[in-house]
Amino acid sequence: MTSDLASSLWHKTCQEHSSSSALTGEVTADLAVIGGGYTGCAAALKAAELGASVRLVEAECFGHGGSGRNVGLSNAGLWLPPEEINARLGPKAGRRLSQILGEAPDLVYGLIETHGIKCEPVRNGTLHCAHAPAGLKDLQNRAKQLQAIGAPVVLLNQEDARARVGSDAIYGALFDPRAGTIQPLAYACGLARAAIDAGAHLHDQSPATKISRTGDIWQVETPKGLIRAKQLIMATNGYARPMQGYDIPTIVPVHYFQGATAPLSTELRQVLLPGLEGCWDSAMVMSSWRMDQAGRLVIGAMGALDHFGSSIHKDWLSRKLANLFPALAGIEMESLWFGRIAMTREYLPKIQRLQNGYVSFGYSGRGIGPGTVFGLRMAEALITGDESVLPLPVSANHTLPFAGLRGAYYETGATLTHFVSDR
Ligand SMILES: Cc1cc2nc3c(=O)[nH]c(=O)nc-3n(C[C@H](O)[C@H](O)[C@H](O)COP(=O)(O)OP(=O)(O)OC[C@H]3O[C@@H](n4cnc5c(N)ncnc54)[C@H](O)[C@@H]3O)c2cc1C
Repeated sequence: MTSDLASSLWHKTCQEHSSSSALTGEVTADLAVIGGGYTGCAAALKAAELGASVRLVEAECFGHGGSGRNVGLSNAGLWLPPEEINARLGPKAGRRLSQILGEAPDLVYGLIETHGIKCEPVRNGTLHCAHAPAGLKDLQNRAKQLQAIGAPVVLLNQEDARARVGSDAIYGALFDPRAGTIQPLAYACGLARAAIDAGAHLHDQSPATKISRTGDIWQVETPKGLIRAKQLIMATNGYARPMQGYDIPTIVPVHYFQGATAPLSTELRQVLLPGLEGCWDSAMVMSSWRMDQAGRLVIGAMGALDHFGSSIHKDWLSRKLANLFPALAGIEMESLWFGRIAMTREYLPKIQRLQNGYVSFGYSGRGIGPGTVFGLRMAEALITGDESVLPLPVSANHTLPFAGLRGAYYETGATLTHFVSDR
């Protein structure tokens, strides 16, 4: 098992393709964007719509990073509940971020509709499920905090939650009707196509290898090309490759793996997630599950599939599936893959200034809405010169000591948990 994107369900079922080629020769632009995930593609789209000339370079294919590997839960808000966001950012900035990200699904599904992105959009809400009676306390607390800021979330009792999920292993759930599911890689590729249609120049297979400045002009070098641009957005997030002349902001790498079954029978689809909500649970080592458009169950949890503990994660996945949905006991996984989540110490995303440019990173497992919002708004701030549109204040220099060790701590915890649980 490798971290190859091609092993993912999303690669196999992606219906969005954009024509692009590697950057060759020297070009100039108002804005250079590095990284072709949600952040970079949304930034390129917005800048082109505002009339700026844009060049985006992506090292591999569009959506190669977290954007092509995730669960596809298009959430409203961050992982942290509102009061914790306020405690970390201050009440004013915290409330503003929660409000902007609460509206992020409107933006995501709006872009999908406007640009005709073929990414299996389903906006039937999400269910944050109590994995045990004790998990309900956290959900009650979240419900209270979210309702206090006007979010239309509803706490479901055990009976209702079990009927919605089709599982007796659920003890209640927090339903968020604002959210939904998408085919995540297709959404990234569709944003890339929309940006190209709007006039941006996007280049795949074009790793930026060196960043420099001459006067007030950025130079971005790739193996066969060079971009000179007035402004720069660095959108490489958790998949950043080394670039000479640029210090990549440190993140805590947390891995998350998923498996997808073959399409389930019509009978099973009538009882397992009949309403097609996307789900995750309240366990410390969280799990998620959802259906894709063809009726495959996609289930995942924290963990990497490239080390000695991979078989522990895979064995646990079979047990978890059987415990959650006994009718699926013993079913084979058609696809198995994993990806790297970019966490920060505070579980909050960051925007930092890069002279005449920005870098954003660390959506901490919630990047579909936030990546789209941050990309659009960073581009708008640069092109219009109005920094007040940024979703949160620019942070001062960010340090994260022992990030690698913190990542190893999460991986070891997930492996040990999966070794003992659901037996
Ligand atoms: C397994 C998993 C599950 C997740 N589940 C969810 C979920 O359900 N809902 C949700 O909202 N979020 C989820 N997330 C988080 C979400 O996927 C990310 O936050 C989001 O995709 C980040 O988008 P991005 O554009 O900032 O970065 P990325 O999508 O990682 O894109 C960065 C890009 O930069 C490119 N790059 C790197 N270095 C260079 C270079 N030198 N030159 C050119 N290009 C370069 C990379 O190849 C990559 O394509 C999940 C993440 C993972 C990994």
